[in-house]
Amino acid sequence: MPDLKTEIEYLKGVGPKRAEILRNELRISTIEDLIYYFPYKYTDRSRFYKVKDIRNDIAHVQIVGAFSNFQTKGTGHKQYLQAKFYDETGTIDIIWFQRIKWVKDNIDIQKKYVIFGKPKEFRGSYSIVHPEIEELQHFKTSIKALFHSEYGTTEKMKKFFLNSRSIGKLVHNAFKNNLQINEILPTNLLQELKLLPIKEAILNIHFPQSVEKLEAARRRFKFEELFMNQLAILSQKKKQKNKSAGFVFEKVGDYFMDFYKNNLKFELTNAQKRVLKEIRADLKSGKQCNRLLQGDVGSGKTIVALMSMLIALDNGFQACIMAPTEILAQQHFESITEMLRGIDVNVRILSGSTRIKQRRIIDEELQNGELNILVGTHALIEDKVKFKNLGLAIIDEQHRFGVAQRAKLWKKNTQPPHIIVMTATPIPRTLSMTLYGDLDVSVIDELPMGRKPIKTFHFRENKRAKVYDFLKKEIAKGRQIYIVYPLITESETLDYQNLEEGYEKLLQQFRPPDYKVSVVHGKMKADEKQQQMERFAAGETNILVATTVIEVGVNVPNASVMVIESAERFGLSQLHQLRGRVGRGSEQSFCILLTGNKLSSDGRLRMKTMVESTDGFRISEVDLRLRGPGDIFGTQQSGMALNFRIANIISDVKILELARQKAIEILQTDPILQKPDNQRLKYKLNEYMKFSWGVVS
Ligand code: ADP
Ligand code: MG
Repeated sequence: MPDLKTEIEYLKGVGPKRAEILRNELRISTIEDLIYYFPYKYTDRSRFYKVKDIRNDIAHVQIVGAFSNFQTKGTGHKQYLQAKFYDETGTIDIIWFQRIKWVKDNIDIQKKYVIFGKPKEFRGSYSIVHPEIEELQHFKTSIKALFHSEYGTTEKMKKFFLNSRSIGKLVHNAFKNNLQINEILPTNLLQELKLLPIKEAILNIHFPQSVEKLEAARRRFKFEELFMNQLAILSQKKKQKNKSAGFVFEKVGDYFMDFYKNNLKFELTNAQKRVLKEIRADLKSGKQCNRLLQGDVGSGKTIVALMSMLIALDNGFQACIMAPTEILAQQHFESITEMLRGIDVNVRILSGSTRIKQRRIIDEELQNGELNILVGTHALIEDKVKFKNLGLAIIDEQHRFGVAQRAKLWKKNTQPPHIIVMTATPIPRTLSMTLYGDLDVSVIDELPMGRKPIKTFHFRENKRAKVYDFLKKEIAKGRQIYIVYPLITESETLDYQNLEEGYEKLLQQFRPPDYKVSVVHGKMKADEKQQQMERFAAGETNILVATTVIEVGVNVPNASVMVIESAERFGLSQLHQLRGRVGRGSEQSFCILLTGNKLSSDGRLRMKTMVESTDGFRISEVDLRLRGPGDIFGTQQSGMALNFRIANIISDVKILELARQKAIEILQTDPILQKPDNQRLKYKLNEYMKFSWGVVS
């Protein structure tokens, strides 16, 4: 009796050659892999057509009848086989370009068959190319009587006659020999959640016996998959927590208190207070803190970061904060220096453009401990940057850094420093559950008081003149304006041209000296950028024309209008980030999305979503639905964690939450899965971690 671990090669109908193809193309190497290779689509086969009822607009037809008149046509490579297929109402043509010999040898004109395929019309008569054929006799007893399952295949597989249909046959073969399949989910879980037992579920996912059974089978496997995922994440996290001891920051001391009493100019929002509390608890727990701090643009993450760093200082440690761009690092440096005015904290900035002389000072002070807070770009994580006693590292705008870069920070002290990553990319809960398994998550879900919601409008190119009029009115009121052009690295030169042209045109409308315009783009030198930004920040210019370099972090409260050029070229999350650059002061702010006159339906939905919503979480959910998680977070970060076989983290949220709940429960009662009833589960989990995650536990 074959079992699941039997090599696919030994399954009837496979053999060495096909086994190799299956391994290479679909990563199927055992029978288990095969039966877990689920159909991606099902067609209802309970319906039969008569030949006379075939029409052009029917995707697939299924007919009972018989063959006659086999004829080989064409010559050489172009040879094909044609036959008639008839029932009591009429006749159609059937055509084969391949497997001609097999057809001739096997089809019996005395017998009745069921054929299934896509009808094509040519001059009033219909034909079907390569229909699926089964003897009526067999069809009646076969397990695939009701649904036609379709499996994903590749071009290469076709050469070896491995199509969707043959995969179905192989699965069928695997079952014929009374395949041994053991349940992996604990019995009480199956009962409690009314999940289909594994064998019945496998059968029905391949050869559904009814719509209800198919749904039940899909539900079971979605649960199984998400449950494994959550079990893996949660047990991994537990292990990691137990492993990494962290510096204990016991007290909140003078730095923190001095700042809180004398320098904090506003009341913290409740969300900021809550998050600070969570961070403080981490910092004194004795375990290394690994926390993701999420908060929409403008929610006030910087202050939370600063106050956390002050706690590190109070306990005799150094801290650093790392930003993804030079401009952002500079902004952090300035605002932190400003916020700490009058308090004796030594803050310095390190980036790629730091001069050697300055760099020497930094190196020296870092190592003798005189430097308290280092602000910088990724120059910070280079090996040659050595701290005397780094206790806390903060990474701003997480999505630009990979996991590997984060890990580099761990090595900056004898014991890994505490780590907080801050991101303004709102991540739907479902995603953070699966994506940031190794991080605890804190959310600042509240904006500081007194902010007016930004008004967003979408205009097409033909309304540009109107938009300019509006901008002039705002400038007359003393407001400042951002105009942003897309920058997509693949065509940087082209984007640069767009910006150049746009800038020239803009200058004709906003002529100096009445209007003053700054420009910032990726091709400028750092200090040049800096100078332009500074002029804008100081209110010396009315308009800042920029590529997306201003995407993250820039803070100019008097800027109240954000114009986004070619807005259709931006993803939703990016549009939302850009919009967050305005609405920071007390004035009413505006965001204007300019697009071409023609828009795709996706483009329209994106603009509509922006106009209707300012809620970053809602926006990122739409974004996720439009683009899928891989596109948003990149494979580097998402890795295998998002590659689900059957579950969909967007539409299966309920099941995901259930799976998480059950995973938590089971790990509470049986942390390392020792109970007899959990043994199969444990085995499966180890496999899952090894193969899907590359983690050997
Ligand atoms: P982000 O979360 O986007 O990084 P920032 O930290 O840059 O946001 O904060 C945005 C602006 O809001 C800054 O000018 C900051 O000083 C201000 N701010 C932060 N917290 C508060 C608060 N509780 N009340 C009022 N203003 C605040
Ligand atoms: Mg920020």
